[in-house]
Order: sequence, then C-alpha cells, then structure tokens
Amino acid sequence: MNLNSKIYVAGHRGLVGSAILRTLVTRGYTNIVYRTSGELDLRKREDVLRFFEAEKVDYVFLAAAKVGGIAANNDYPADFIRDNLLIQTNVIDAAFQCQVRKLLFLGSTCIYPKFAPQPIKEEYLLSGVLEPTNEPYAIAKIAGISMCQSYNRQYGTRFIAAMPTNMYGPNDNFDLKSSHVLPALIRKFHEAKESRSPQVEVWGTGTPRREFLHSDDLAEACLYLMEHYEDNEIINIGVGKDIAIRELAELIKELVGYEGDIVFNASIPDGTPRKLVDVTKINQLGWKAGISLEEGLRAVYSSFYQGDPIKL
Ligand code: GDP
Repeated sequence: MNLNSKIYVAGHRGLVGSAILRTLVTRGYTNIVYRTSGELDLRKREDVLRFFEAEKVDYVFLAAAKVGGIAANNDYPADFIRDNLLIQTNVIDAAFQCQVRKLLFLGSTCIYPKFAPQPIKEEYLLSGVLEPTNEPYAIAKIAGISMCQSYNRQYGTRFIAAMPTNMYGPNDNFDLKSSHVLPALIRKFHEAKESRSPQVEVWGTGTPRREFLHSDDLAEACLYLMEHYEDNEIINIGVGKDIAIRELAELIKELVGYEGDIVFNASIPDGTPRKLVDVTKINQLGWKAGISLEEGLRAVYSSFYQGDPIKL
C-alpha cells in the first residue's frame, strides 16, 4: 500500500471504519473512497458490483457490518445474520470480480466457542459451541472468514481476516438498547450523576470478563496487517488483558465522579463468561496495542461529555 493507492473503507461512519479512515488520513493517504449506507447499500449486490467496477480500488478495509451488544443481538437475530451475510458476500465477491489487490475482513471474537480456553488462540475457531445470544452474528462472521480463505485457495486472492476483541472509541453507539457495555456504562453513570439518581443498574452479575481495545489501536493494527500479513489463517487483535464488568463499572463510576450505588441485575444475561484473546501472533508480527484502558476511557468520556463525538 503506498500513499497514492486507491483505498476503500467500507463502514467509514462506524466505530472501526471511522478510526481506520482517520488513521489513513493522518498517515497521508490521499486516495480514499467511502460511501454512506444511504449512497450505497452494501446489501444490494448489483449496486456493490457497479461501485467496484466504477472505482477500481486497490485495497479494501471491510469494516461495514451490522453490530450491537447483547440485547440487540438477542432481539434482532434475523437482521444480524442476514445483513452481515449480504454485506460481506457482496463486498468480498466484488473485490474478487474487480481484482482488488488486497482486502482485510474484520470479524469478531464472538466467532470463538463460548467456553474456549483463555486466552483464546486463533486455532480454537470451530472447536466448540457458540454463545447463543450472538450465534447468528458469529455464524455470519465465520462464513466471511471461510469465504476469504476459500477465495484465496481457489482464486489466489489476498483476502486476510482479523478478529478484533471488544472495541470502544469515538463514534461508538451510546444507545442503551443496542450498545455494548462500555459506552452504555459511560452514558448510564453520566446521566445518573447529572440527574442525581441514587443508583445505576449494571446488567448481569458483574463477573464476566472482557477485553477492551481502543479503536485507534485497532486502526493502527489494521494498517499494519494490510502491510505485513499474508497468511490464510485468521489473526487476533487485542491488548492481551481483560477486566471484570464489575471492575469496569467501578472504573467508569470513578472517572465520571458518580457517588451513588451500583446494582447488578442478574436477570439479564451475562453472555460469555470470559473473552480474552491470545495476541502472541500479532505481537510476534511486530504490532502491540498502545492505549491503556484508563487513558482510552478518559478520551471517550470527554468526547461524550462535550456532546460531540467526532463525525466524519
Ligand atoms: P458481549 O461482549 O457480546 O457479551 O456484549 P456486551 O458488551 O453487550 O456485554 C458485555 C457484558 O456486559 C455482558 O455480561 C453484559 O450483561 C454486561 N453489561 C452490564 N451492563 C451492561 C449494559 O448496560 N449494556 C450492555 N450492553 N451490557 C452490559
């Protein structure tokens, strides 16, 4: 990839795509294309193919997906499997048809078995049953991985697949019904402080453990992989450290300066007990995460607090 290469960032308004776009711009890449979902509906095969034929892109970051937290996945399983299968199939196939040089497909750690040994190594894929709350989403992502690998085998394409751990950052979804835990807790504690509410409800038991990667770190990793990774096997992106939801809640409570109580609502599912990826492979390739959770949380909270999450 050089500074004049034509690069398509699919999903440039999302948490991941917007971070990739910001990083590309900061690094001096000048020939970047992107479309909003209103301009190009990636679920429509003909439109996607027409876009690729017209733009003749060299590199693709496939960060467009229908994503959401535990509640959204549980409530809209059909939308999650359908939209993701359509988006990724259309983009991967059009990238092949139009001879894109290299494509990076972004999966998720929920592709791994619910009770995978921790930290999760790449080879644990398809070694056990999935977590039921996000199985339709996970199966779509597994299909995307297999599609990249199969195209590489059959057609000699260079489609790589990376599995980022739970992410957070600017442009995150702060809607309490569909968001992931970290933005949800930032919002809940902030609003409880503003309204002097005596308690904040945290879902589940507080014991599940999750790993949190800042989207700027993820974007750096994506560019690094585009330049240095050629393998047909998947590769994890993470920080290699996790935290219990209870500890995360305490950390955010302190950051926000909220003085009320935390109550756990154990009638809401915990999901997977622990999700920590093994980052040996990407570390050995030469990339390591650089943003600590405390530092990243402070940045996200101040942009949330100012009410202007960065929009591109
Ligand atoms: P997951 O990593 O796919 O399970 O997705 P989430 O980020 O939605 O949830 C992670 C964990 O945080 C689960 O154990 C949730 O029950 C818990 N959690 C606690 N409070 C909240 C909340 O307000 N919103 C969400 N989405 N999860 C919460």
